[in-house]
Amino acid sequence: MRDRSEHLARLVTLEMGKLIRHSRAEIDLSARILQYYADKAPVLLADEPLDFRDGSATVINDPLGVILGVQPWNFPVYQTVRFAAPNLVLGNTILLKPASNTPQSALAVEQLFADAGAPRGVYTNLLIPGREVYRVIESDVVRGASLTGSDRAGVSVGETAGRNVKKSVLELGGSDPFIVLDDNNLDRTVEAALIGRLHNMGQSCVSAKRVIVISEVFDRFVTALAERMLELVPGDPVDEATTLAPVCSEPAAQTLVDQVRDALDKGATAVVGGGHVDHPGAFVQPTVLVGVTPKMRAYHEELFGPIAVVYRVQDDDQAVSLANDSPYGLGGAVFSSDISRARAVASRIESGMVWINHPTSSEPELPFGGIKRSGYGRELSHLGIKEFANRKLIVTM
Ligand code: NAP
Repeated sequence: MRDRSEHLARLVTLEMGKLIRHSRAEIDLSARILQYYADKAPVLLADEPLDFRDGSATVINDPLGVILGVQPWNFPVYQTVRFAAPNLVLGNTILLKPASNTPQSALAVEQLFADAGAPRGVYTNLLIPGREVYRVIESDVVRGASLTGSDRAGVSVGETAGRNVKKSVLELGGSDPFIVLDDNNLDRTVEAALIGRLHNMGQSCVSAKRVIVISEVFDRFVTALAERMLELVPGDPVDEATTLAPVCSEPAAQTLVDQVRDALDKGATAVVGGGHVDHPGAFVQPTVLVGVTPKMRAYHEELFGPIAVVYRVQDDDQAVSLANDSPYGLGGAVFSSDISRARAVASRIESGMVWINHPTSSEPELPFGGIKRSGYGRELSHLGIKEFANRKLIVTM
């Protein structure tokens, strides 16, 4: 993967349009995930002896067999590797159904495994539409299914797996809170919000989609974030000078503009942005929305693009209750100079991950996943490798 990183990065950018430097970062992270599991598997999968009075008891980690992974287009290489690496070192084999708009990235990953000498059948792409996936899960050959994608697709996979008594892992959408408790290092916090919201042009499940700011800091924060957003320059995402990429498709751009329009019609304000960019392609203006209320779509729905909704709150309690007023519970971030205050807030957020003084991110050794409508199960780390393991008990008397 490292030898082919530039080829893979260009393929990702060509297929779904992200900035080339974001594609390079995706390939680098993907290679680190493969490395992590290659290095750590013997420790992570070691037998676990138990305290048992009457004899010797051990839990061993056996593979289950063939596991289906259904993956989205937003990080087409990372998502694939995040699913494949732990399962392959465990001994499972993979059927990989990529998103219909990123088949070339999936084919390039399959080619990597083939060229690295993986036996035929260890890793196989299924270039089928989403509506056919249930038939694969129903097959007796398949022992489990993992989906990363929308909650709509997650419901379908979870339901079919449940009906067939097969384990499933669901990594679904999110509308993560990004909470600013004070003006400590405000420039750095604004920069973190910008990265948190705009990495991958905001098309990330763990984007900082709802920015929640304590009242005293709100005005300065909004002004600074809006200024930074205005600096972004649209262009060809392969061009290093471009800082604003398109979103993945024209319909996706239109959905975002409709969500913003709905908020504006109902009384919200766009401090900057709010529409399409006058540039060929699926470009959406980086937008800062304030004054969003529960009667607007932007309050409840996932905004999968460069739109930051910024809320003003009076205190930590209000920040927590707003953060938790969401069907989703994937990640979250809390910014403060006072780490114990930030930890207290973090402990009350209903989500699978909270980062303090950093936007929510992903690293090979850290578990990734959510609760509520963001799904169940974990990927990556020591937890992800055991989701599709038969944790088999062996007792010797
Ligand atoms: P999507 O429409 O749900 O597609 C994801 C995958 O599911 C695609 O391969 C798709 O196939 C397939 N699919 C669609 N309908 C299906 C069905 N009824 N049964 C089984 N599979 C089905 O989502 P997306 O628009 O590609 O991705 C964006 C969503 O993914 C966002 O909500 C985002 O937050 C979420 N996401 C979550 C994570 C996480 O780790 N939690 C990470 C990244 C993205 P086709 O392409 O053939 O339709």
